[in-house]
Amino acid sequence: MAAQLDNPYHGVPILLSHRVGTHLETADREVVLTFDDGPHPDASGPILDILARYDARATFFLIGHNVRRNPDLVRRMQAEGHALGNHTDTHPKLPEIDTPSLRAELEACQEAIQAVSGAAPTLFRPSYGRYDDRVLAECHRLGLRVVQWSAMVWDWLGPSVEDAVAAFSAQLVPGAIVLLHDGSNTRRDSRAATIALLGPLLEKARDQGFHVVSLADRLERLR
Ligand SMILES: [Zn+2]
Repeated sequence: MAAQLDNPYHGVPILLSHRVGTHLETADREVVLTFDDGPHPDASGPILDILARYDARATFFLIGHNVRRNPDLVRRMQAEGHALGNHTDTHPKLPEIDTPSLRAELEACQEAIQAVSGAAPTLFRPSYGRYDDRVLAECHRLGLRVVQWSAMVWDWLGPSVEDAVAAFSAQLVPGAIVLLHDGSNTRRDSRAATIALLGPLLEKARDQGFHVVSLADRLERLR
């Protein structure tokens, strides 16, 4: 049963679960690539280079703390036609923090991205993919759609390119939303595996006749 909540901000019960999307409802050969935890000074640039080579538009879920440290990379993402989304300010486990802290996490990231790009995001991915009704209510208040994913290649575990492409291929259906990482909440993680597998992934998508599309252009199909 869908979660129903007495929205503390508007005082009316609303159905919030419909705001969490995992894929696009489409028969077209379209796939969405999402990159979490950036921008990252070493990884985001090479990833943007590869995306440009394939004329692919991605969606970046940014950590506010990283946005403030790497504003030029955010400007480059925006200039090259990629969508920008909120991924909290410091990447906490949101269900484990109190409500004022939770609100501050979302608002600070909105402000960081708006300060650099000129626009407040309309997309949100919870850190660790974890949320509760308070997160959904706060997203509703801020005009954010929650975006999870339908496919992943476990890029953060450093798979071989061959394994990653096989996993991608097995999950490549119209409207798939793929989880990838260009950044890190700890700055210790290398994204070398993601950089290595991205070209072959895009090659596979092209071979199968899939276009890589920006989520911002397909919001009405998000389910
Ligand atoms: Zn994350």
